[in-house]
Amino acid sequence: MIHFVGAGPGAVDLITVRGAELLKRASTVVYAGSLVNPALLSFCPPSCVVLDSASMSLDEIILALQEGEARGGVTVRLHTGDPCLWGAIREQMDRLDELGISYDVVPGVSSFCAASAALRAELTRPGVSQSVILARQAGRTPVPDGQRLSDLARCGSTMVLFLSAGLVKEAVQELLDAGLPGSTPACAVYKASWPDERTAETTLDDLAGEMARLGMTKTTMILVGGALSRAPVQTSLLYDRSFGHGYRKSEE
Ligand code: SAH
Repeated sequence: MIHFVGAGPGAVDLITVRGAELLKRASTVVYAGSLVNPALLSFCPPSCVVLDSASMSLDEIILALQEGEARGGVTVRLHTGDPCLWGAIREQMDRLDELGISYDVVPGVSSFCAASAALRAELTRPGVSQSVILARQAGRTPVPDGQRLSDLARCGSTMVLFLSAGLVKEAVQELLDAGLPGSTPACAVYKASWPDERTAETTLDDLAGEMARLGMTKTTMILVGGALSRAPVQTSLLYDRSFGHGYRKSEE
């Protein structure tokens, strides 16, 4: 059995207890070295075979996992954040299905949650945005028709952009094309939860310049929308005295 484990955004204490327990018992770990904090590997026992998949092809990754299974014990495939987002796990699972190797998934704290925490932001604010779109700017990896940022941002949802720091100018242009004003709050978080985390809080118009000034070229999350504003907004109904629900009677 292969365990796909979400490593969390970087900080060693932001992996789940279940994920850390699997690393402590692992005999083989194949980790995505381009983003996973290597400090997490200190959970592994000294005898554990640890392999960085950053330079491996899909074939080589599957071979490493197969060899892990042949070695016996616990095999962990360690992915950054939560594996369900841009983890390329489905293609690995398809191959494991063909090989008759079973697997499960341990969720992780996605880096967009760590980026929001760094900003002390709430992405869903009453009257401003009640939806969040996790997306990417099209680049060398194309996006399907109808899923460009210029299509997605029209509804005013909070936009969270993965894999887009190197394409920030193009992303900003698409968001402007969608009708967002240049004054829309826009933030970037470099290496959320790592010791060298950096944040930028600015507007859509100034985002690219600010990110260049701060050297945010990779491992950066971009968040855009009115919900990122520091101005106080309408309070939620959840804690409103006049709004009754299953756990509290309305006072009116
Ligand atoms: N599965 C991961 C995302 C993988 S895609 C998750 O749930 O977080 C890789 C992209 O995630 C990077 O290009 C960057 O946009 C973002 N990312 C990953 N770790 C990050 C971090 N610590 N801080 C900011 N962005 C991060």
